[in-house]
Amino acid sequence: MTSEAERKMQFLFALRSRGVTDSRVLSAMERIDRGLFVRGIFADRAYEDMPLPIACGQTISQPSVVGLMTQALNVTSRDKVLEVGTGSGYQAAVLSLLARRVYTVDRHRRLVAEARQVFDALGLPNLTTFTADGSFGLPDQAPFDRILVTAAAEDPPGPLLAQLRIGGIMIVPVGQSDTVQSLIRVTRTDSGYEYEELRPVRFVPLVEGLGQD
Ligand code: SAH
Repeated sequence: MTSEAERKMQFLFALRSRGVTDSRVLSAMERIDRGLFVRGIFADRAYEDMPLPIACGQTISQPSVVGLMTQALNVTSRDKVLEVGTGSGYQAAVLSLLARRVYTVDRHRRLVAEARQVFDALGLPNLTTFTADGSFGLPDQAPFDRILVTAAAEDPPGPLLAQLRIGGIMIVPVGQSDTVQSLIRVTRTDSGYEYEELRPVRFVPLVEGLGQD
């Protein structure tokens, strides 16, 4: 039986060895306990570097992928951030320690309600949740300095591109569902958008409309 402290050290070691080197990202991931976001029979695997099932047939992302995406997003404490795909809420909680304001949206009411409970328990006052089809973004809160999409789209959704501030960055997995997707970094410039391919990833698909539950 490993102690809490040992588990935490192994968790951070796995992140570093997979390329998460940004000290702000590492310290945010050290502070947000992933164990709070995994329920039921998988709870005791929360500190392993693997994706795990959550409610509504969705998954909490692999910690090293959360770290690498957060690092690629280059969030500063002045930024207003949109996350599409709340899922367990883990990624949003990590972002909330790095950004000025975080809005997170999911199409499943149940996931948003469960994530909200954990956010309230942790006391993260700059984090706001929405139940909606996030591929349309959040027009009332736009523009955003940073946008992180944690479900795979066939192309970066137009409304999200439009809601990115000039100079802003969006990270989005792009590709057909159930095949290997590419993590893309989009930077909005004065004259348009620059696209950069970061690494292969595998995410659940971005789905249209609201979920059943
Ligand atoms: N970021 C999450 C993992 C996300 S899994 C975490 O840290 O745990 C992908 C999530 O995207 C799922 O919860 C799924 O319901 C959501 N999703 C898929 N399509 C969506 C859409 N169009 N709008 C909002 N959320 C969507």
